Amino acid sequence: MKHIVKVDGTHHIRLSDIEPGSVSELTPKAAAARTAELLTELAELQELLYAAQQTAVLIVLQGMDTSGKDGSIQHVMGVLNAQNCRVASFKVPTPREAAHDFLWRVHAESPARGEITIFNRSHYEDVLVVRVHKLIEESTWKSRFDSINDFEKMLAQNNTLILKFFLHISKDEQERRLLEREKDPTKAWKLSPADWKERELWADYQLAYEDAINHCGTAVAPWTIVPANHKWFRNLVLAEAVVEALRPHKQEWMQRLTSLGEAQKKQLRAMRGETST
Ligand code: AMP
Ligand code: MG
Repeated sequence: MKHIVKVDGTHHIRLSDIEPGSVSELTPKAAAARTAELLTELAELQELLYAAQQTAVLIVLQGMDTSGKDGSIQHVMGVLNAQNCRVASFKVPTPREAAHDFLWRVHAESPARGEITIFNRSHYEDVLVVRVHKLIEESTWKSRFDSINDFEKMLAQNNTLILKFFLHISKDEQERRLLEREKDPTKAWKLSPADWKERELWADYQLAYEDAINHCGTAVAPWTIVPANHKWFRNLVLAEAVVEALRPHKQEWMQRLTSLGEAQKKQLRAMRGETST
C-alpha cells in the first residue's frame, strides 16, 4: 500500500519525511469495509495458527501517548479469539524486573507456538524513555540495539513471526487527542499531567524512535511506520500488514493440521482393532 514505510535494514528513514496524516485513495467508508474483510481473514488464519501449533506471532505496538495503541488493540486485534491471543503491557519496571536484564520480562511474555501476543509497549521502551530521560548511560542504550537484534533473531529462529508497528502521529494531533480526552468521561481516566510533560520532549522522542527503528528494523523483525492521525486508515494498515504476514503460512498450517488429524485417526483405528490402510 502506498504511504506505508517498512524498515527492514535495507535503508534508513527519517520520521520527519513520513506524513502522519497520510491516507489511501479509499474513502473512510470503503476502508472500513476492506478492514472488516481483512479481519475476517485474520480470524480464520488465527484458527489455523492455533491448530497447527507451529508458528508464534509477536506484534509490537509502539508510539507516543495517544498514538492509538489501545485503540488498535480494541479495533484490530479485538476480532481475535482469546483462546490463543494475549496482550502484554509493559509499564515502568517493578523492582524485581529492574533487577534483571531488560529483556527478561519481555522474553517471559513472548508467544508460544500457536499463540499471538501483542506487546502494548515493549523492550523498545528501554531504548526510548530511558534514553530521553537520561536514566542510563548513552553507551548502555546504544549497546541495547545489538541485544534487541540478537533477541529478536533468536525468536525468529524459533518460528516466531515478528511484526513491529510505530503508530506515527503529529504533535498537533496529539494535542487534539489530549484535549479530547478531558472532555470524554470514558477516556479521562487515561489522562496524566505527565503526558503534557512528555510532550515537551517530543523532538527527543522522535529522534530516539528514529534511531531504534533504523537500528532494529531487520529482515526477520521489520518495523512498519503507520500513519496514524486518521484512525480508520491506521486500522486498515494494521489489518493488512498482519494478514499479509500470516497469509503465506496458510498452506503449511493446513498441511500440518491435516497430518496431525491423520495421525490421530490412525491411532483411533488401531484402538478399535481396525486394520490400518
Ligand atoms: P501507559 O502505556 O500509558 O500505561 O504508560 C506506561 C508508562 O510506562 C509509559 O510512560 C512508559 O514510558 C513507561 N515504561 C514502560 N516501559 C518502561 C521502561 N522499561 N522503563 C521506564 N519506563 C517504562
Ligand atoms: Mg499513557
